[in-house]
Amino acid sequence: MSEPGDGGAQMGRRRFIQATAALASGLAISSIGRYSPPPSVARAAAAATRATGADLTRPQVPGAFGSLDPALATVLRRGYALPASDSGQLLVLNYHKVFGEPAPSPVGNAISVTVSQLAQHLQMLRAAGFRPVRLADVYRARLLDAPMPPRSVLITFDDGTAGQWIHADAVLRQAGFTAVAFLITSFVGKAAAFVSWPEVRSMVASGRWEIGDHTHNDHHTVPSGPSMPMESALITRAWNPRTNTLETLAAAETRVRSDFDLSLSTLQRERLGRPLAFAYPFSRVDGPSNDPVLPDFVKDTSSKLFPLRFTNFSPGRLVAPADMAVGLLPRFEVHRLVTALDLYEQIREANYSRTTVAGQPVPSSGPVLGLERGAAPTLAHGADHSHPGL
Ligand SMILES: [Zn+2]
Repeated sequence: MSEPGDGGAQMGRRRFIQATAALASGLAISSIGRYSPPPSVARAAAAATRATGADLTRPQVPGAFGSLDPALATVLRRGYALPASDSGQLLVLNYHKVFGEPAPSPVGNAISVTVSQLAQHLQMLRAAGFRPVRLADVYRARLLDAPMPPRSVLITFDDGTAGQWIHADAVLRQAGFTAVAFLITSFVGKAAAFVSWPEVRSMVASGRWEIGDHTHNDHHTVPSGPSMPMESALITRAWNPRTNTLETLAAAETRVRSDFDLSLSTLQRERLGRPLAFAYPFSRVDGPSNDPVLPDFVKDTSSKLFPLRFTNFSPGRLVAPADMAVGLLPRFEVHRLVTALDLYEQIREANYSRTTVAGQPVPSSGPVLGLERGAAPTLAHGADHSHPGL
């Protein structure tokens, strides 16, 4: 399903490019300056494929297999002989809480990972030939309608919990990865469980972190009616049990718009600039909602404010060109029970997935990331884990 005012139609795309040209000029040069402007999109894509494809036939890190699970190392060795694809699809991973060791039980903390688990994931990605990219790289590819380099991966963390800086950053540094922190701006510094503004500035100053938006104060659930389920506040008209009244659509739209404005102005106040990306709370985009119009209003509003929006899938999906055209990108949600080998398996399966977020078919031309379907062991995956947010 395309989005109002920002769909795949060429007219909409041109309007999008015009509307975001000013934003592009304001991007940090250090983020996008590594690329020289391409003489043509096709030539740039071919050059990127040649430049990165050659490296995919050998380990990216000397001795990268040394401390990996032996079964995973075997799988990865087998995968190296495969040619790289040039179809330019992107892998986006999404993490939440990060615990040091010893970590608390996964019971009640399912949407979390441990530092050693994260380190294994990143090591696997390196060994499998993935290279980290930044939001600015993804944004630039979207503006130019150009493919991402083969085996590009964007690492993201939601909610701005303290472990992302205290624990995850050291792992990112050691593995040579960058990441995006999607902040709930009213939660920053609110409690010890969340990063503080000085910490956020340190994250950005490290060069390893970009900041994304995850609402100001609309990351919670509200009653959707009397005896009705709790739903994501961002796309739901709130039922007030004290007055037995339902928030009007106009009031809900004003609330949502104000929340976006407040989040952006808070980031500006903290001198963190204008974020390129927004992550939907609870990955709720189209519903459930008690209003047929409000989710589309949120999609329309967020698409005008953020050229890139993210939502999660489990099992994960790769970002397809049709997703890029809309600017609503799927992420793999990673949780405590996902080992590095599990994650590799999921990526390989998604490599053959042929539908986009919008449900549109992806043209089939072999494995999109150059990962072969084959003899990897079948693994039992974790329990169902719909995204509970915090
Ligand atoms: Zn969240």
